[in-house]
Parts: sequence; structure tokens; C-alpha cells
Amino acid sequence: GTTITAYDTIAAISTPPGEGAISIVRLSGEAALQTAAKVYHGKNLLKVPTNTINYGHIIDPDSGETVDEVMVSVLRGPKTYTREDMVEINCHGGIVSTNRVLQLLLGAGARMAEPGEFTKRAFLNGRIDLTEAESVMDLIRAKTDRAMQVAVDQLDGDLRRLITNLRQEILEVLAQVEVNIDYPEYDTDQMTTKMLQEKAQLVLSRVDELLQTASQGKVLREGLATAIVGRPNVGKSSLLNHMMHEDKAIVTDVPGTTRDVLEEYVNVRGVPLKLVDTAGIRDTDDKVEKIGVERSRQAITKADLIILVLDASQPLTAEDEALIKATAAKKRIVVLNKQDLPAQLDQTQLAALVPAEQLIRTSILKAEGVAALDQQIASLFFGGIENSQTTVMVTNSRQIGLLRQAKASLQSVLAGIEAGMPIDLVQIDMTAAWDKLGEITGDAAPDELITQLFSQFCLGK
Ligand code: GDP
Ligand code: ZN
Repeated sequence: GTTITAYDTIAAISTPPGEGAISIVRLSGEAALQTAAKVYHGKNLLKVPTNTINYGHIIDPDSGETVDEVMVSVLRGPKTYTREDMVEINCHGGIVSTNRVLQLLLGAGARMAEPGEFTKRAFLNGRIDLTEAESVMDLIRAKTDRAMQVAVDQLDGDLRRLITNLRQEILEVLAQVEVNIDYPEYDTDQMTTKMLQEKAQLVLSRVDELLQTASQGKVLREGLATAIVGRPNVGKSSLLNHMMHEDKAIVTDVPGTTRDVLEEYVNVRGVPLKLVDTAGIRDTDDKVEKIGVERSRQAITKADLIILVLDASQPLTAEDEALIKATAAKKRIVVLNKQDLPAQLDQTQLAALVPAEQLIRTSILKAEGVAALDQQIASLFFGGIENSQTTVMVTNSRQIGLLRQAKASLQSVLAGIEAGMPIDLVQIDMTAAWDKLGEITGDAAPDELITQLFSQFCLGK
């Protein structure tokens, strides 16, 4: 196992900034208990049992002034998040006094933690691997329950186990190749080559499966950029309102979440949609929608998914047709709205322009057909895996990039065998695949990568 190192003592406020009844200041490191004890008035923290919560006060050691009334959790390593001794101070007095508590701890010898440094220590001390560390980040940023679940599964080590198994498969065959190279007189060449080929094929197919989850994983993590387009008065704002309000609130009460007010997300059956240019939809009603199609074009370019709204109670206009054509190459859902009114739109004309499977008929006014729209969005993105709860997904571009590199190496293995290349050359590619997979879990990750990765965390995690 990994040896556990207690590093210098770090401190940070680990609750999100802003209002909140309780904020938590976290300490971790070799002198976590001693540092807290210097500013805490109550029981002797050095003597209380581990995993206890202790009532007391934070006192400014210089002035003797009481700064806050607190509950202090004493968590001795190695059974802690970082595996070091940790202290969590629950402050009650609001953000000003929480900051003062932090300042006092810094004065007592702690160092301000860098973003992600607590999690980095958990990694360095072998408690979690890189996929798990990344899932901590994903959890912090998760926008839907589904995204949370994927992150939680990774935190459980599902991806790590899968990758570790694949590496084990490769290692076994590499060992066999070694034997063959060392004892060529056994003349097991053909057998070894066959084994290499089979293993490379097996691992390649698993890597491919993982890569297929990547697009869904990315959507879960980052949200699917979605544009609602259509000419004036077809029902875009009504649709937007429906999406924003009907129990589709985005998960924001995850500890450590910082709300990103600049982006609007809605949760449609687990798919976080990041709405593009909703300002356009909201403003245009007043501004007579002059900018119409031009503005839509920009939104269309930026979006991964287009929801094009048409008015079924009106004949198809040239503007409708222009939008249908402008979105034809995109992932698209065409909403035929206002089904509650007498139909005017020529169905034959429409059928010639829009494939039937892209069409959803709604009356947003009467909330009809909107469930089908939600369903369509979800199945576009989850397809066959929609109902499987245990699918391991790769969710971030670092993991995806490494899987692609592993895939390329495995393909070289297969191509090399096809071409009758010497086995020790094929072995190099197989080893490269093993290395790349190892980087995913951090078993072979370079230092600068680790530093860069953890710096993406929120402060206090
Ligand atoms: P936008 O200009 O595309 O954003 O369209 P709005 O959402 O502002 O809707 C324009 C008008 O159509 C409003 O009066 C809505 O109440 C109405 N509307 C929206 N959806 C429906 C629908 O399904 N049926 C009917 N009858 N009216 C609708
Ligand atoms: Zn509108």
C-alpha cells in the first residue's frame, strides 16, 4: 500500500461563500489538532477521542476576545478524508467571524490551502485514485441527479476497477511475451502472437465501449448546449418558461456548489440542458424581433441541440423554411406547437422538409406533448443506456484523451501482428496502451498533470 504522509497543516473555509447559518473551516495536516487547540477554548482537543464533536469558543489568543461559538470535530488519521489528522470547525457567527477564525488559524501556524489541496492529499496518501478525485470535482459541479450518480459511481471506484482489470489483462500477456523472448528455444512464438492479438482485441473492445459513453458523459458534466429557435410568436418563450419552471430545478444544494448565474440550466430527465441565448428569446418580444433569423443563426452555431419551434396554426413561412434548412445538419427536435388551434400548416410540405422522427406535436399552452418532448431529448442522449444505472461512464476530456491514445496503441498492436512485425516491437505498443490506461487512474500520471488537475478544484475541497 501507499505510505501515508502527514504534510504541513492547511486550512480553508470549505462551505460555499455567501449566506448560510453554519460555515465550516477545515484543517488537515500533521499539526491540525495543535493548531486548532491554540485558538480554541473548551476541552483539550489533543486529548479528546477521535471522531468527536466538541462544543467551545474560538478565542483570539492575543486579545483574549471571543470570536465565535463553535462545534469542533476532531478526526484523527488515517481514517479521514486526507488520511491526515483533520479538524472541522463549525462556525455560527456568519461569514465575517468565519473569516476571522480562519485568520486566527493561519496566525497559529496553518497555511492557506490551495484549491483542491485536501483532495490532492487524499490522492497522494492513496485514499483515492485520479478518477475518484475527478469525480469529486464532478460532484461539485453536477447539474442533475443523473450527473451526480455518475460521479458517485466513479467515487465508488467503478471506473478505477474497470481500468485496473484491463491493465491486468495486458500485464498477463506482456509477462507471457517476456517469457517467450527470454526462452526463444521453446518456440512458442505463434502461440504468444495469438494471445497478444486476442488480448489486444478484448481490451480494445472494452476501451471502445467506454469511449462510446464519452459523449453522454460530457453532456452530463458540462450540460448540453441547447438553442430554442423559431420565428416570432410560435411559442419559444412559453416553451422556455415551461422548461424553467416545471419541477426541473437544477441541483444546487450540493455542498461546495458555487452557483453559476451566467448560465441557465434546465434538467430534462437527467440531461442538463445549457440554454443558449435565452436572452434573445426573452428580449425579442419587446423589440419586435427584428434580429430574428440572424440572431438564431448565431445560437444555432453555438448549440449541440436545436429545438426548432413551428406554429401549426399558421402556414409554413419562408422564415420557417430558412430555419429548417439552417438546422438540418444539427441534432434537432422540431416542435410543432399550437396543436390546440385549427391546423393550417401543410403536413405534406413539412414532411418533405423534416424527418418524421424529429417531429413532436405540442400545445405548450395546454401543457400537451411536452412530456413527449422531454422523452425525445432524453432518448437522443441516453439511447440504449438510458435505464442502466450502473454503466461506467467517462466524463471528462482527460480520461477521454487517454482512452483514445490507448486505443491507438492497441490498434498498432493489431496492425503490427497483421504485418508480421517482430513480437518485441508489438510489445512496445502493448506497453504503451498499459501506460495510457494507467494515467487515467493516476498509476502512471506525471507530477505536473497532478498539480494542474487539483488546481481546478474549489477552495476547501
Ligand atoms: P415566441 O415569440 O416564440 O417566444 O412565442 P411566445 O411564447 O411568446 O408565444 C406567443 C403567443 O402564443 C403567446 O400569446 C402564447 O400564449 C401563445 N402560445 C404559445 N404556445 C401556444 C399553444 O400551444 N397554443 C396556443 N393557442 N397559443 C400558444
Ligand atoms: Zn417570446
